[in-house]
Amino acid sequence: MTQALELAARRTLPDEGAVTRHDGAVFDLRRRRDLAAAEVPDWEALRERAAALKTHTLDHLDTYLERFEARATEAGAVVHWAEDAADLRRIATELLRAHKVERVAKSKSMLTEECGLNAHLESQGIHVVDTDLGERIVQLQGEPPSHIIVPAIHRSRAEIGALFHERMGTPRGETDPEKLTRAARRDLRSRFLSAQAGITGVNFAVAETGSIVVCTNEGNADLGMSIPRLHVACMGLEKLVPRMEDLPVFLRLLARSATGQPITAYTSVVTGPREGAELHIIVVDNGRSALLADPGHRSALGCIRCGACLNTCPVYRRAGGHAYEGPIPGPIGAVLAPALHPAGAALPHASSLCGSCTAVCPVRIDLHDQLLAWRRELPRPRGEALLGWLAALVLRSPSLYRLAGRLGRLSWPILGVRFPGNPAASWLRGRKLPRHPGASFASRWARRGQGTGP
Ligand code: SF4
Repeated sequence: MTQALELAARRTLPDEGAVTRHDGAVFDLRRRRDLAAAEVPDWEALRERAAALKTHTLDHLDTYLERFEARATEAGAVVHWAEDAADLRRIATELLRAHKVERVAKSKSMLTEECGLNAHLESQGIHVVDTDLGERIVQLQGEPPSHIIVPAIHRSRAEIGALFHERMGTPRGETDPEKLTRAARRDLRSRFLSAQAGITGVNFAVAETGSIVVCTNEGNADLGMSIPRLHVACMGLEKLVPRMEDLPVFLRLLARSATGQPITAYTSVVTGPREGAELHIIVVDNGRSALLADPGHRSALGCIRCGACLNTCPVYRRAGGHAYEGPIPGPIGAVLAPALHPAGAALPHASSLCGSCTAVCPVRIDLHDQLLAWRRELPRPRGEALLGWLAALVLRSPSLYRLAGRLGRLSWPILGVRFPGNPAASWLRGRKLPRHPGASFASRWARRGQGTGP
């Protein structure tokens, strides 16, 4: 783990109790995913099909994007193209201003997180309410989501109860999830009714029909799309599937991989605006076409944002999403970061490369190979090259290896002590050293041969 990532992790998950709770909650999603996958006899064939569809779509993305635009326009939607985050913010602001919108009901969209849309709209005097419960919690808390499916998974019930007490007037000390959810529901209801526009993300877009597909478990996107007369849908240009008949492949994989459900509770296919309303679809590039042009890394664009790779990742589970320096945490965030967010270029180094992410990815993205590939391409963190050189030197020479072992055993008791110039001390703050080995394996083996060892 890089030092910056470790420091950020300590802020969000400050003690072992918080880490253990987070780890357990996240891994429970992984466990549910395993059970759901086991119930589908053709699960591996489904993953294979999804991967092939994604590869095909990305190989012909220009054709499918043009087809999508033509069909969506025929259906009455207006398609806008945003080259980068600033473009998305500008287009959305212009649309909302043109409709004199002051209040927006927004459903979960990692793309708008990526592009900083909420903060921008607020700075323009347009009030945005996140309507997904988890998103609402982090919005009230004034922090970004820490998971792409369960944005507030890093918060305990007690923390959420205290927040709702302060912001919604629930009884002090209330931690019952059902009562807290009811309170949030009451609070959101009036905000839905008074919203003048709905902003949603897009899970999939169908080139054949010009439809967008929005999946939620709370129905909040559906309210946001159907109460106000203006619907602004923000989609990354990689969200396309060629035909409507391809959609079930991904829907079957998405919910099972995310939460273990057979399907998300609400899956809405929107083709054109409803009568008397307007549908604007903003298709965002923001670095994606550069990634598409890179054959070594383009497969990352196949991601359907199910979160399964986060739920299985030993680093994510213990560090939490806020440790990652980008809008998308976990293995897929670490793979996308170097291409989409220069600040996250160190993330590929913060991985155990265990491959668990690749094993669960429903669209078979070779995540750990991608992380390794980025490590080869990106500048190495300070000190790593020197450490690698030293390790190679020591491992090549038996006498240096013995000397290093001796020094290691001598310094064992002070490795965790904080003093200037001891890099091990900060690393060991969150880790326990195993018991002191006493003697080297070689000397114990030799004694054993002479009948004096263990
Ligand atoms: S990379 Fe795969 S497992 Fe991770 S979020 Fe995307 S689709 Fe899911």
